[in-house]
Amino acid sequence: MYEMFNSMSNKLDSYDVIVAGAGIGGLLSAALLSMKGFSVIIFEKLSFIGGRFTSFNFRGYEIPSGAIHMIPNSRGIFTKILRELGINYKKTDVLLEYIWDDYQRSCQYNFGVFKILKTTSARWAFAKIYLKSLCPQKEFGISFGEYLKKEVKNDELYRFFEVFVNFSLSLSLEEISAKTMFEINRNAILQGGPIVPIGGCKGVIRGLEKIILSHNGKIITNADVQEIL
Ligand SMILES: Cc1cc2nc3c(=O)[nH]c(=O)nc-3n(C[C@H](O)[C@H](O)[C@H](O)COP(=O)(O)OP(=O)(O)OC[C@H]3O[C@@H](n4cnc5c(N)ncnc54)[C@H](O)[C@@H]3O)c2cc1C
Repeated sequence: MYEMFNSMSNKLDSYDVIVAGAGIGGLLSAALLSMKGFSVIIFEKLSFIGGRFTSFNFRGYEIPSGAIHMIPNSRGIFTKILRELGINYKKTDVLLEYIWDDYQRSCQYNFGVFKILKTTSARWAFAKIYLKSLCPQKEFGISFGEYLKKEVKNDELYRFFEVFVNFSLSLSLEEISAKTMFEINRNAILQGGPIVPIGGCKGVIRGLEKIILSHNGKIITNADVQEIL
């Protein structure tokens, strides 16, 4: 990478923006900046782009590298870019499988959660969070984990959200702000559940790649960024 950087350094100067990593975050940022007229180059350490937001074909089946469905804000950047790319999406009847020690239940998204929580106190606590999600969100200044510990104080609900956030966002409850989590809940409620882009996550990645390349951007794979100078 060092040699590659050296040999490219003159060329690198000609780019306005250098992006490290071609996951959905890097590609989305690069596409938006490209559309605003910035010249962009992206370095991706792996041999493929998309990170945890793509899929691999295996015997005719698309196996996701991570994400399958998402909960965008209908007026947010992600929805805007899907529109820009002409990618439609559809709502899913996601099934949640909830396992708590020897207790196991399945449910559909949103309201279904009320049915599967084991204790009445957890259901009440969830109802409060559900309603609070619909109010305009302020900046809490704390993580969602801290919020649950300080304000909600319900072990079952803490564990429910912990598993949900670990799996669906690859984050811990301490890594996501209370405000963001309430916004995600709100989006899920207003959308009626998560959506799946037609063509899957890979379709979105291909669309973003197309935008970047059509604006003379460059994507370099097998290029591990080791230092930000
Ligand atoms: C099993 C699983 C299921 C999930 N399901 C969902 C879901 O249904 N819905 C949802 O919304 N989210 C889901 N997620 C989370 C979602 O996939 C991620 O939050 C999202 O894809 C992260 O995008 P990102 O661009 O931030 O990071 P990544 O996708 O991790 O992208 C980072 C990129 O940067 C590259 N990189 C890292 N270091 C360097 C370096 N030094 N130099 C160059 N390149 C570098 C990596 O190779 C990678 O390609 C799931 C995650 C997993 C693992």
